[in-house]
Amino acid sequence: MIADFEYFAPKTAREALSLLSRYKEEAKIIAGGQSMLVVMKQCLLTPEYLIDIKGISALDYIKYDEGKGLRIGALTIHRAIEKSLVIQDHFRVLSEMEQNLATIQTRNWGTIGGNLCHGDPAGDPASVLIALNAKLKLASSAGERIVDTEEFSKDYLEVALEPNEMLTEIQVPTPPPHTGTAYEKLMVMRGDMGIVGAAVSITLKPGDGVCQDARIALSNFASTPLRAKKAEKRLIGKVITEALLAEAGEVASTEANPPADVHGSAEYRREMVKVFVKRVARLALERARAA
Ligand SMILES: Cc1cc2nc3c(=O)[nH]c(=O)nc-3n(C[C@H](O)[C@H](O)[C@H](O)COP(=O)(O)OP(=O)(O)OC[C@H]3O[C@@H](n4cnc5c(N)ncnc54)[C@H](O)[C@@H]3O)c2cc1C
Repeated sequence: MIADFEYFAPKTAREALSLLSRYKEEAKIIAGGQSMLVVMKQCLLTPEYLIDIKGISALDYIKYDEGKGLRIGALTIHRAIEKSLVIQDHFRVLSEMEQNLATIQTRNWGTIGGNLCHGDPAGDPASVLIALNAKLKLASSAGERIVDTEEFSKDYLEVALEPNEMLTEIQVPTPPPHTGTAYEKLMVMRGDMGIVGAAVSITLKPGDGVCQDARIALSNFASTPLRAKKAEKRLIGKVITEALLAEAGEVASTEANPPADVHGSAEYRREMVKVFVKRVARLALERARAA
């Protein structure tokens, strides 16, 4: 049963932020409600005031500029990201990630902002956005601040939002030349939450094919989406070989104490991270070579 609450449906971000600054900890935002209603039904959250931001159309957009990169409004639904031609052309990994996120029905209603703010380490977008070095714009009535996506998740279902703040925009920089990015997750059935997932971005130096930069992010391998920095270091400054890809997978598998649940033991997750980091890094490398 859901506890009683007072409901607001602001039509502008300013109005929503003003409600948040008035009610602070007693208020919660709801966007698509796909995760929020679950935690409310479980009484994990019992807000006195529910601020429904789904009607704020100004936060539903996808904009691209080669210099500034990609800007996605927090209320953009997953399906719009999946189907966006500009994303398919310039950030195909985002579209590919969305194709395996839940079902079309879920993607047609759930928002990218809600997904990130829910703070589920098994969520797909956060790892991909970390690999893409994306930033998040957080707004309050007092102003705005920008945080790295990898700094946003604090713990299981916990993110770096102050009670008076909301996420308004996801900012993805245009990758440097000769960069390839890929993401895959281990699913029993297409659209399942990943048992583990790996997102990898590789940038090659022009000419000699040496790895100039690498970013590796893992989903559902820790209490937050995890950047595997030790594994990245194994790749940077070297010509990447099959042996080096395997080494990066081995190292990544030691960078956290993974959870154990009905979907897989900690040991199984470690083994799968070895496989997925190697496989996804190989694909990212192929893409970087072709870019
Ligand atoms: C059947 C099913 C399958 C799913 N499978 C997957 C999957 O495979 N991979 C995956 O990644 N996800 C999956 N999801 C999650 C889904 O992707 C939704 O994006 C996610 O549930 C939250 O989106 P929402 O818009 O419904 O947010 P809500 O449920 O409305 O909100 C979620 C949380 O974020 C907060 N919030 C929402 N928007 C903002 C904002 N702009 N600023 C501040 N706080 C905000 C809310 O207060 C709440 O705490 C699945 C969901 C369902 C129901």
